[in-house]
Amino acid sequence: MPRDLSGYLREEVKTTPFCPGCGHGILMGAILRAIDALGLSMDEMLFVSGIGCAAWIPSPNFKADTLHTLHGRALAFATGAKLFNPKLKTLVVSGDGDLSSIGGNHLIHAARRDLDVAVICANNQIYGMTGGQVASTTPLGSLSATTPRGNPYRPFDLCRLVQAAGASYVARYAVVQPLLLQQAIQRALVTPGFGFVEALSPCPTQYGRRNRVGDVAELMKQLQGALVSREGAETLPETDRASRIVYGEFVP
Ligand code: SF4
Repeated sequence: MPRDLSGYLREEVKTTPFCPGCGHGILMGAILRAIDALGLSMDEMLFVSGIGCAAWIPSPNFKADTLHTLHGRALAFATGAKLFNPKLKTLVVSGDGDLSSIGGNHLIHAARRDLDVAVICANNQIYGMTGGQVASTTPLGSLSATTPRGNPYRPFDLCRLVQAAGASYVARYAVVQPLLLQQAIQRALVTPGFGFVEALSPCPTQYGRRNRVGDVAELMKQLQGALVSREGAETLPETDRASRIVYGEFVP
């Protein structure tokens, strides 16, 4: 019998902000299951988000203190809150555009300082809520509102970026791996220092539609097919690696 998580949600919120087929609903469930499995009290937690679709995961849904901040500034606000009250279990939930594009400088410096916060970056490979613009995580050649002929730039590998900056815990899993994703979120929450989880979460509306994979099942199937474990990636020929997404724990 699955656990009833409704106690973690605000009763007054009756609708979802997410489009049908968005991966963020699965991510929201994984976050709540991680909190539930650890037995954390929502009264001792603070959720911080910036601007974008993923920022709506904690705010207004979670029955807890939430800071819904400026675009790209979730980590700046989380830093201030954590310094003011070090006892707060602080969890940042935001998108790739927010955390690694507009807020990229905050991300690398928070990781460099090994700030004691957990960060879930919902990576949908595009700016979703603001209209489908290219992000620093958009794959090479992908179509977006601002790259109608294909993205000419290489994307960030967020896990390697944060790892190089000095984070204590770094992992990447997709919403099609809900149990592994939940376990990674748990580890990020209990690891002292900067705990970073990149959660790959497909966006059928902005990314899928523009790249002609509007069908949600097909988008999830493509994501599942692209995933390869760290061990599996080592055995792949160099030419095959570029089209695959490596999942697993990168630190420790
Ligand atoms: S625009 Fe994309 S990321 Fe945003 S809610 Fe819709 S499907 Fe999800």
